[in-house]
Formats: sequence, C-alpha cells, structure tokens
Amino acid sequence: MPRAVTPKRPGLQATLQAYRNRIRWDNVVWSSHCVDCYPGNCPFRAYTRDGIVWREEQAGTHDVIEPGVPDMNPMGCQKGAGWVTTHRAPERILYPMRRAGARGSGSWERISWDEALDTVADAIIDAIEKTGPESILYETSPAQGGMVGVVSIARFIGLLGGIAIDLEGVINDFNSGMYLTYGKFNVSSVDDWFHADRILIWHMNPVYTRIPYYHYIAEARYRGARVYTIAPDVSPSAAHADVYVPVKPGADAALALAMCRVVVDEGLMDATFVREQTDLPLLVRDDNARFLRQTDLEDAGRDDQFYALDEKTGEVMPAKRGTLRWGRRRPSLDGSARVRLKDGARVRVRPVFARLREHLRAYDPESASAMCGTNPDVIRALARDCAKAKTAIMLGYNSCKYYHCDLMERSMLLFLALTGNWGKKGTGARSWSAGPFDGPFLQGMKQQPGAAGTREVLRTRRWAIDQLKEADPTLTDELATLELVSMIPMHRKIVPAFRLLHRWANYDEVWGRRGWHDPALTRSFDDYFAEAQRNGWWSGMSDASVPPRVFIEVGGNVLRRTRGGQTMLLRNFWKKLSLAVTVDFHMTTTALQSDIVLPAANHSEKINVHYATPHVMQLLIADKAAAPAGEAKPEWEIFQMLARRISRRAKARGLRSFTDVDGTVRKYAEIGRAYTQGGALRSDEHLVDEWIRDSAVAGTIPRGMTLARMRRTGFVRVQDWGMSPLAVGQASEIRPHETHVPNRDHVDKKYPYPTLTRRAQFYIDHPWFIELGESLPTHKDAPPMGGAYPLRMTSGHMRWSIHSSNVTDRLMLNTHRGEPFIFVNPVDAAARGVGDGGTVRVFNDMGEFRTMVKLAPAVQPGQVVMYNGWDPAQFAGWRGPMDVEPGMVKPLHLAGGYGHVKYRPGMWQPVPVDRATRVDFEPAG
Ligand code: SF4
Repeated sequence: MPRAVTPKRPGLQATLQAYRNRIRWDNVVWSSHCVDCYPGNCPFRAYTRDGIVWREEQAGTHDVIEPGVPDMNPMGCQKGAGWVTTHRAPERILYPMRRAGARGSGSWERISWDEALDTVADAIIDAIEKTGPESILYETSPAQGGMVGVVSIARFIGLLGGIAIDLEGVINDFNSGMYLTYGKFNVSSVDDWFHADRILIWHMNPVYTRIPYYHYIAEARYRGARVYTIAPDVSPSAAHADVYVPVKPGADAALALAMCRVVVDEGLMDATFVREQTDLPLLVRDDNARFLRQTDLEDAGRDDQFYALDEKTGEVMPAKRGTLRWGRRRPSLDGSARVRLKDGARVRVRPVFARLREHLRAYDPESASAMCGTNPDVIRALARDCAKAKTAIMLGYNSCKYYHCDLMERSMLLFLALTGNWGKKGTGARSWSAGPFDGPFLQGMKQQPGAAGTREVLRTRRWAIDQLKEADPTLTDELATLELVSMIPMHRKIVPAFRLLHRWANYDEVWGRRGWHDPALTRSFDDYFAEAQRNGWWSGMSDASVPPRVFIEVGGNVLRRTRGGQTMLLRNFWKKLSLAVTVDFHMTTTALQSDIVLPAANHSEKINVHYATPHVMQLLIADKAAAPAGEAKPEWEIFQMLARRISRRAKARGLRSFTDVDGTVRKYAEIGRAYTQGGALRSDEHLVDEWIRDSAVAGTIPRGMTLARMRRTGFVRVQDWGMSPLAVGQASEIRPHETHVPNRDHVDKKYPYPTLTRRAQFYIDHPWFIELGESLPTHKDAPPMGGAYPLRMTSGHMRWSIHSSNVTDRLMLNTHRGEPFIFVNPVDAAARGVGDGGTVRVFNDMGEFRTMVKLAPAVQPGQVVMYNGWDPAQFAGWRGPMDVEPGMVKPLHLAGGYGHVKYRPGMWQPVPVDRATRVDFEPAG
C-alpha cells in the first residue's frame, strides 16, 4: 500500500499550516438561523475564535426516520452557511440610535441605552395616558427574531394591554382556498415528498425556496416519480422537472377544473373517497342554491344538519355530524329528489356533485385552454397521469397572493379530492403550520413558573375540552380545540391587518376602486364592508378604533413587506405615530424611517429556538456562541429593560395604573416584575429552559428534556402535537419511525373536518358566495389591480435572501448582479427599447420604482417577474415594487357568520394581495 507523502517543497508546510489556522476554533456550539426561512430548522455548528463567530457548518446529524426514505442530511442553504458575514456588515446596528433629522433623512445620533429606554418608555406612557394602551401596536411578524424575539414583544405588549396585528394579514401567507375546503390548513413532513409518484410543483419554486429539502423531490424522481412544474414562467424549478406546464398568471383554476373535468368524464374518479371525505354527496336546493338543512324541514331543526340521497332507496338521509361514515347506506352523487319543506312547499334537491358535473361543462380542455393558455392535450395528459397515482401538490405561499387565491386552491384541492389524494403518504397539498412545541403557549398562560403551573394549565385545558365534548358528543379533540380558541377573550387585543389598514392607512381609497376588483361584484367594497360590520362578522376582536401612536417593529420590515408599502403606510399610517421603534440587528427601510432604533443581538449572539413545524418534526435550539456585537442585546433583555423602565418612569411621573379595552386595571409598578414572572425568567437562558421543560411536561418532546440536555444534540424530534390549534389540525398521530402525513384521522378514522358541513367542503352556500358565483370552485381572471396596464407583475421568494433579512449581505450580493432587477421577456423589452442591464421605470396608477432589467425568455410575454425580498432602500428614492402594489383585498373574504367562515387569529380574514398587479415600464432615462 503506497503511503501518502508530503512533498518537502519550500513554503508548503507554511501553506498547510495557514490552511489549518484558517479552520482553527476555540469553541463550537449548536446553531441555526431563527429567521423566517420557514420551515428552516437546519442544525448548524457555529465556530468561534477569539470571541468572534467566524464560520458555520451544516451538522448532518439527523437519523433515518423511516427505513427506505433518505434522511434529512445535510440541511442548510447558502444564506445560513454565510450568515456570519452579516455579523460584521456595515448595516449592522451596534448602538441605540435616535434620528437626528426628519424621518427617513438618514441622519442619526448615537444615544445611550438609558436615553433610549427613557424615550420609548415615556412615549408609551404618554400613549397610554392620552389615547389608551390600544394605541400601542406591534406586528406579530416571525421575521428574524425566532421564538424568543416573537415572545419578547408579545409578552411586553400583552402586559401593556396593547394590540397585536394578526400574523396572517401581515405575512400574506393565508391559503384561503385550503381553509375554505378543510376549515384549517396543514402540511406533511418534507421527507414525505419522497413517497409521491407524481409531484406537481404548483405555486412554489422549491429550487429557490426549499433548498434544504429539495433533495426529496430529486430523490423521488430517482425512485420513479414524475415531476411537473406548473407556472407562468419557466421557473428554476421547471428546469429540474420532467414536464413544464405553462399557465397564464392567475388562471390556475381553469387548468385545475379542466383536469377535474377529464377525471369525471373518463371515469377516473375515486368515488368512495369523494362520498366519504367531501360534501359532494350533500343535497342542495334548486330553488335557492342552499344546502338542504334540518331547519328547512323542522321547526326545532339544526342549521348545520345536512342531508344526502340514499343511492338504493332514493330516500333523503341525514349526514352524520360526528363521523364521515355512511354506515350501510351509500349516498348518491347524482340524481335528484323532491322534498316537502316545513312550510309545505316542495323543492327539488340534488347532490353537490350533480351541480359540479354541470359546472364542469364550461371547463372542457379546449375551453379551459382559452382561459389558462395550457394546451388541451397537455391538460388531458396531466389529468390522466396523476389521477391514478399518488399525487402531491407542492403548494407554497404564492397562490395566497393572488386576488382569487381561494378559487385556485379550491380547484386544485378538488382535483386531489376527486382522485383520492390526501391522507396517505406521498399525497396532499402543502400549506403552513406551527406549534409542536408548547413551551411558549404554556408560558403565556401560566400563573406561576415551574412544572406545577404547567400542569395546572394542561389540566384546565383538558377539562375545558372534555366539557365541550360532553356538551356535544360529535366533537373530536380537534373540533373542541378550535371551539376553545374561538372562546378566548384575548381576541380583543388582536387586530386583523385589513381593519388597521382600512381605518388608519387610507386603504379605503384603494379598495374603493371598483375597476381594480372582480367585475362580478355587484356592490362597492364599502357596501360589503358595511354589511359585514352590521352582521357582526368582525366583532370580538380589536376594531382599530383607537388611533395608533406607538408602533414597535421587532425583526420585521413592515415598510418593505406591506403591499401598498410606503405609498400607503408612510403617507398615512406613519404620520399618526408619535414614536416608531425598530428593534433589529441591521438597518432596514423600516428602521431608516423609525425614530428610535435599538440594536438586537444577531443569531449566534443569543440563545433562540426555531419555529417548530411539522415539516421537520423537531425542536431545535440556536445557541449563543459569542457576545453580541457593540451594545446589541437579546430581545428578551431589551423588553425586560423596557418593562422595568416603564414602571420606573411611571412612578417618577406619579402614575399608578390604567385600564385596558377589556376593563382590566393594570398597575404600572407591576409591569417590570411581571415580565420576568418575578425574576424566574430573568434571562433568555431561563426562558428557553422553561419552554423546553414545559414542552417535556406537555409531552411534545421526551420527558425530562432540559436546555442542558438539548445542548448535547442541538435538536430533538417532537413526539406529540401539543395544544396549538394549527398543530392539532394536522389530524394525524405522530409515528416515530414514519414520515408525517396530515389528515389521516379524517381518511383512516373518519373523524369529521372542522368545516360547516364537517366534510372537506367544496360548496360554500354563504349568500355572498352565491351572489358572486363562487359557491363552487370556478375560474375568474385576476382583476386589473393597479390600472389598465399591459403587463402582469408576478413574484416569488428570491434565492439570495430570507425576505429582506440578509438581502444586503455582501456575500449574497456577489453571487448575482448585486442590485434589484426585474425579469422581462425580450419581446416586451425590445418593444420598449430596453436592453439587458438597462434601467427602467416601472409604473402604474399606484406609483413607480426604478430597477435594472434582466432579459429572460423564460418569462412569458406580458409577464414581468420581480422577486420578493429586496429592501426599498436598495432602490433609487427608496421606492420598490411594494409601492406599485395596491394591496387589494377580496371583498368576499369579509364574509363571516358561516361555520368555519369566521375570524380566528391566524385564520380566516381578508389578506392584501399583489400577484398579477398591472404595470408597464419604460427606459428610466
Ligand atoms: Fe436553514 Fe434557514 Fe439557516 Fe438557510 S437560513 S440554513 S434554511 S435555517
């Protein structure tokens, strides 16, 4: 065996030593990036030398979960691997700062923590005294604060009686069609993608946005799966698919419905699944297009008791509410019957499926092709290929940002329903979820620190759920949990974003533009809004009646993310604020427009916990590897100091207490002590340790787990869903050695869905849905939001940044052109006299921004692609794409008072959208 010999060349030893020195380290800890790279959760090791974090490395320590399924190693992306460069970036915030000129002037002065705390504390006290604590707001943005950042501000504002802006309207990731269908949204684990035989990448671009997990799609292909990418542009994910299916922007419902038509026409349907899991057998009255209800038949009937037609006898039979089983009877999917109503009238009733069959007549592949641009033969081939295979739709959060998101998703899910494609490995569509980690929830509810307080909360919750189930034996744990959430009075401290935008950011002017809405609307936005208010559909939560005075942003970038951006927020909302505060590790546009900026510790400079999600099924810690740079501090410490300072300043000003919107009297003196539960949670270490211990008590992670034990492995697999309704909504037991598939409880155990009909619901007979022709999934063109301009601007998450968290990172900027750009088809560019690399003015009736053009034949003529994440401060005049996005909301989503179509935090609500905004461009000159 020849031995490796190191040549004795002059200087070689020194070179080798230099390389060894480069990877020398003093200390190594478990790390990650608790940023909203959702689902993220990549275990990393962070290496420090001389007190500086200088390198991170993927850990690669995941075990095989299910034999035969590849493990998750190595998880990571280039943003995470290069995160250390953000620690020493020029835009890093190192000290508390106060603006020295007008807002947004870029002029700052360094101040001490003392001055900063006094300024913020006084402004908060002023706001409480003058307008009430409801004038203090924060965004429930996941952004880059991780669980500790989110909980720090939530606890602080909670103690003040301030208002949280509902997450769903902030992040615009609400899969409204999935919610309408299931009454919830859920997601499989990423390794379950491997089981799929057909993967439809549809409203997702996993090559860019799922870098740590994309390998499961590639590995599924090696196993024999066929991968389709359905998108308007030949996206980067299309390049790695077997088949690219083009579709016009926003016309996905037409394509999906044509696929459904093929399945029905060609007898490819899984009728057993349809009968059992969906509302398609339920009877609808011909005279008013509403479900036949018990209230139609009996005086003391239930409004949520529905019926089907017995296929054998033709009798009308009730659908059970506590189970999806039909017993020995089989409901008919076609046919009709005449029923006598309680007033003696006789009406014809037909199953939803019979109506659907008629409805699908408009979607033969040829007709649908005229709507969606996809070749009819491709539609047929796609439908046939997927109908009898295990098919999964990689549905991301792109569809959510279309005006008719609900229609697209309902149509896509209808295809899965007709082909029996959910609740089994390798099937289903993906949304988001959070919560198999009860620590933060428990901590918010505990009256005392320690395990005794935890057990008390768990006992009380269990008791409440049991009481609900006793009162209504048809309830499952999932349904009772949702009932319980609906009863929580804290909703008065939460405001859905649309209400705030409507009341205080003048969005009524934009939303009132009839021509930017669905032309099928018969009334103005204001009419729908007024009716919804009159009906009380939006009561019970904050009504945004108190003018905002203090706004605190923690790790988010509201002026970038909000559709309508600075055009609406700076011009309107921002002017009402007496103080805007940003807590962040780097300067963002929101920080640049703030009055006070407080330096937050970066990842690896504090302990944190990633957002636990079903994707990876683990709880992961990101440990502190080095001291925070400059005077930066962990968010938990910042808000702890601020809570104490409010107590101190109030005392100095002779103030004792105030009353919040619920009538609760809050004592200033107690705010500081209460924040840390009397000192028990005095540091982020104590906080995280308490969360881990509590989660172990709750059983979501192994018994006896502590922070010290977690530090040995970095992460631990979750073993139970815990109490979060989002997690409970997975409706599947966790199997330790298998991939996670949601909705098994419905498919295997026949548990009802949390919808009005207790089934996957494709027919919504809410009067507004009937009025607008949307009771069944249908196709509608995206309205001309932004004005009568020829181009449709689409988007997606970019490859080089997690939102705008590290968009200015030099390492990432050096991997592309280093500045924002827009993808344009060469035909459209030539028509406007623009070449590759040219600067253009993109404009519509909302506003304008300037950016570089990148020519891309991959983009359809008539489409431009502006990836999401660029910070406005990277554009000329700090104006970016969000300034031309009107942020329209669909008036139909103001509907309520209908089973699951009602507000719950993080769920049903109107959400501003941006995709397919109409624009044009010209050389910037
Ligand atoms: Fe993973 Fe997120 Fe870190 Fe990337 S940024 S390596 S996705 S945790």
